[in-house]
Amino acid sequence: MIFIKETGAILGQSRQILHVVEGNAGMVVFPTDVIYKIHKITSGQIFAFSHVHPDGMTILSHEDETTLFAQSLWFYPYPCRMITITLMRSDPFTKEHAFRETCYVGLLEAKETWLLHKDQKRKFEIIREWDRDFIIEEPQKAMNDWYGLILIRKSYEFENKRVN
Ligand SMILES: [Zn+2]
Repeated sequence: MIFIKETGAILGQSRQILHVVEGNAGMVVFPTDVIYKIHKITSGQIFAFSHVHPDGMTILSHEDETTLFAQSLWFYPYPCRMITITLMRSDPFTKEHAFRETCYVGLLEAKETWLLHKDQKRKFEIIREWDRDFIIEEPQKAMNDWYGLILIRKSYEFENKRVN
């Protein structure tokens, strides 16, 4: 199983995929026109922006943090989240792959508080909210209702050839 590129998804409140975003080897750009359309129909409908990261990388990139800040301003008072899906290890014997889903939430200072010190920058911090581990055997075939599998299948190349 070889990492090829990042793949992202805009997730709804039930963690269902609202929109899939094709990325490249280093990043995913979440399309603002699509986000705008979804957010305009029902504010607060978007739960998170999730994406597959290169193996072992559970932290947010600088671009991820910038996106999270921009979206937090836009979504306010609704919170904005950025999730990473990362392959932590693979067991060559059992063919089990351990993936970690890590969720970050952007906390923007309340408008009311910020107005009291408007000469300073509005406070913003990113907090690691939770993480979950998934052990998946043969991700290309696994039957599981976790949305992450759909993204993993797009981000990895699977070796299916039989070696004689
Ligand atoms: Zn990222």
